[in-house]
Amino acid sequence: MPLDNGFGARATLPITDHAALRGALEAGNLQTLLMVYVHISRDEELLDRFARYLTNPYAAPSDLPDGLVQELREKLFALLTQDPPPTIEPLPADLMQRMMSVGVAEPVADEFIPLMLEQAGFEAPPSRLSRAGRKTPPADFKVLVIGAGMAGLAAAIKLEDAGYKFEIVEKNPEVGGTWYENVYPGVGVDTPSHFYSLSFAQYPDWNNYHPRGRDMQAYLVGVADRFDLRQYIRFGTRVQGMRWDDSRKLWAVTIVDADGEHIVEANAVINGHGPANRWKLPDIPGIDSFQGPAMHTADWDPSIDLKGKRVVVIGTGASGAQVVASLASEVAHLTVFQRSKHWVMKNPEYVNDVTEPVKWALNHVPQYMPWFRFRAFWFASDGLYKWVKMDPAWEGNDLAISQANEDARQYALAGMASVLGHRPDVLKKITPDFPIFSKRIVLDAGYLAALGRDNVDIETGGIERIVEDGVVTKDGRTVPADAIIFATGFRMAKMSGDLEIVGRDGRSLGEEWGDEDPRAYLGTAMEGFPNLFWVVGPNSVPNHAGGHNLIVEGHIHYIVETLDMLVEKGARAIEPTREAFDAYNLQVDGDLKTMVWSHPRARSYYRNSKGRVYMSCPYRLVDMWTLLREPKPEDYVFHFPGGNKVRAG
Ligand code: NAP
Repeated sequence: MPLDNGFGARATLPITDHAALRGALEAGNLQTLLMVYVHISRDEELLDRFARYLTNPYAAPSDLPDGLVQELREKLFALLTQDPPPTIEPLPADLMQRMMSVGVAEPVADEFIPLMLEQAGFEAPPSRLSRAGRKTPPADFKVLVIGAGMAGLAAAIKLEDAGYKFEIVEKNPEVGGTWYENVYPGVGVDTPSHFYSLSFAQYPDWNNYHPRGRDMQAYLVGVADRFDLRQYIRFGTRVQGMRWDDSRKLWAVTIVDADGEHIVEANAVINGHGPANRWKLPDIPGIDSFQGPAMHTADWDPSIDLKGKRVVVIGTGASGAQVVASLASEVAHLTVFQRSKHWVMKNPEYVNDVTEPVKWALNHVPQYMPWFRFRAFWFASDGLYKWVKMDPAWEGNDLAISQANEDARQYALAGMASVLGHRPDVLKKITPDFPIFSKRIVLDAGYLAALGRDNVDIETGGIERIVEDGVVTKDGRTVPADAIIFATGFRMAKMSGDLEIVGRDGRSLGEEWGDEDPRAYLGTAMEGFPNLFWVVGPNSVPNHAGGHNLIVEGHIHYIVETLDMLVEKGARAIEPTREAFDAYNLQVDGDLKTMVWSHPRARSYYRNSKGRVYMSCPYRLVDMWTLLREPKPEDYVFHFPGGNKVRAG
């Protein structure tokens, strides 16, 4: 009985490699093994006996009897090796909900079940082509996808599955997007590996619990290969802009490749160019005068050897922290310029390798992968939502917004002190005076320890200018440097990037959004811009934690549903009504007021200069996923051939 665990993994019962199974049962995550056992056996009695000890979501049970653990291992061993093997049936919803709650030691509502069936990979979604009564997309309807990163690849897989004609335009010579471009030392992902992947292309062989950049890139290359997607991609080609042709109901898209500028036509455009893909150098006087190597983290030159050099790193977000952690021990001296503070959180799993027995379990033990993914999802995303939602009854200090948020702050403080307790001077410089999560947290992969080293200084007084051989501080000192690294982030707020987009009636998206005020309906569609869809657009980034991957999938699903709705009605174009667009944005703005990102002390790239939070999604992943299941026809205007315009409502 072969069970496809996702990305090439095969779990076949009965398991005959008893030694490997024993190893996996010893090394595997206990709660996941319990879920696997109950899933296959339906032995709720054992679930109950464990539930008594599984009470703290964030700590391993200290009083769990060894005998009980051993009993689980033995029972699971017997179950997985028995011949004939047990049949694995879909779980009843109430049992699944109980298992999820016991497994993470806190209540998980049953609204998570449909999400988890898909996202954890318990159920493979049926092909859209097999949907009864579905109209086939017209042969002359073509979709253009911008970017072959995670979003573009997911779009390709789902458009192909739905029978749409499409092509992807990618500026780089390879797939991967951010993960192709970011190759700075220490580059990695702060969302857990076993969650940060496409639910329909899961991967059991991650080397670390948080992917290194190169492994993330290898995964995306693997997705392109496995789904044979390169045939659809124009590499080395950049989209410059697009103009809506209302008489023909299509986009004329200007692309630039090695041969120059061309126009390609597409009925619909999906923009997967990502929120964090356009890097920027800071506006520091004298930046061009520096004589040594100077580079942005997203524009890294691996040929430059920094060993034994005096290096300056400007910026202390995720990229800066990773590069500092990675370089500190090999350079002669490192000076880190921190403009404002960041919360740094210790995560014991961040740097851990996935051991071979655990990889074996992910590959060979049926249901281990989806239950492990559920666990990774919960503790990296919606399980953390309570940390970012303001409690109106909170009467504690103004550095927190709720008891849960205060607990998280204390946890982070303790983690920072545990590494830098011997350096109160450094701790003082980096300890934030704003609530945790009000700005993107930095997961510690050695950053704190690096700041405690003798060859590392942290400067917090500000930069006056850059000179040919170093950086001059605001208090007049010159920090000598052989190389400068700009870990200064991306042009996030200008979400249209460099694209010139002219929609219906000559409307310019760039002008409407300006440099920092993007808005969309459900984070994906814009009134006035028919058949144009953003992936992870305004107010759809799950800043309560990880989950970019899930919003990518949610948006792609929604976009294909919306195209199907268009086809079903025989229309040629579709856009949200002004009312739906405004109502959604009003709702989002109101809900954002209750989130940590709007706290008076919060300053981050999530907000624009007027204080509006344009990036973060105020909802849980489960809420967005549910909202994105299917479009509401009454929220759309349909454009028909010949110019008829119909509001479905
Ligand atoms: P970032 O979070 O925007 O951090 C940029 C840093 O540069 C901040 O410390 C910022 O200071 C500083 N900075 C900007 N302009 C400056 C200036 N003129 N002078 C001095 N300092 C300046 O950028 P990032 O670290 O590249 O991260 C970008 C996004 O990618 C984040 O969402 C991040 O989480 C994500 N990312 C994720 C991973 C991962 O998954 N591990 C890895 C890399 C990046 P202020 O704080 O004062 O603004």
